[in-house]
Amino acid sequence: MLAETSAKLTDNLQQATQILAQSSQICILTGAGISAESGIPTFRDKQTGLWEQYRAEDLASAEAFERDPELVWSWYQWRRQLVHDKAPNSAHLALARWQQAGSHKITLVTQNVDDLHEQAKHHERTSRHEPSNDSKPLGNLNNIDSTVHHLHGHLWRNRCSQCHKPYTEQSAQPKSDIDFDTKLIHCSECDGLIRPDIVWFGESLPVDSWQIAEQAAANCEVFISIGTSSLVYPAAGLAQLAKQNGAKIIEINPNPTANSFVDITLAAKAGEVMPLLVDRIL
Ligand code: NAD
Ligand code: ZN
Repeated sequence: MLAETSAKLTDNLQQATQILAQSSQICILTGAGISAESGIPTFRDKQTGLWEQYRAEDLASAEAFERDPELVWSWYQWRRQLVHDKAPNSAHLALARWQQAGSHKITLVTQNVDDLHEQAKHHERTSRHEPSNDSKPLGNLNNIDSTVHHLHGHLWRNRCSQCHKPYTEQSAQPKSDIDFDTKLIHCSECDGLIRPDIVWFGESLPVDSWQIAEQAAANCEVFISIGTSSLVYPAAGLAQLAKQNGAKIIEINPNPTANSFVDITLAAKAGEVMPLLVDRIL
């Protein structure tokens, strides 16, 4: 069974490599699954500890914050605690290596709020220029890379829930000094409550990132969806848009998803598949 599965995977990898060899414009959409092997749970995983009784979907909304801001803020502080020492895995690193190689025009769009793509790019740059340097992940609070297009915001940024003013006091601190205090913070301008700068369920996506994502999806020759359940819209619509415009769709996910029009499925973990795929491409 295992041999059969890996024969199928090898075959599909071969097909994917061939398609990519004939293409130049690539749009990549990543979801929580690409960070799973770094130890960051997806929304489909059951929450642990104190948070076991809650569904993530019931905490990540403006209504939840209005109803019980302490609860939602504490949950985000807990998630920050969970994520702050996590490092990119071999999928993020392979992707960064591919981008750095410059063989294709790649637009990287992510639904993730972590900064593991940015850390991987930093790692790739440092290891190229200073091969002997043990490059530590960049302090994630200051780690914003304009070539990673975040559709759902950033876990490490905060803003006022009323006047939208960015709240930088906590966000500006270096990684090691992050204050995970669960006490609510008020805006110095309007006294509104400070909230994470994350796109919650029911909220609009940032216009700039969304426009870039739509354009890249509509104009790409190959669309690669990695580690996303394709249930959360509008991000899930990007693959459809790419397909309607003639792109081939490749999906990397060990589990079946809601995407019904995929051309090639690489049914394995992203951390296993991405290095294999990138080795073949470069
Ligand atoms: P999701 O939780 O709905 O789905 C995760 C998908 O990843 C599933 O289809 C699962 O089969 C797949 N998966 C699990 N392990 C994998 C692996 N090793 N390799 C490849 N795929 C794997 O996530 P979503 O589709 O991104 O959408 C949910 C929302 O959750 C997004 O809006 C996102 O912002 C948010 N979220 C983000 C993070 C993060 O930033 N790391 C973590 C949890 C949730
Ligand atoms: Zn304010």
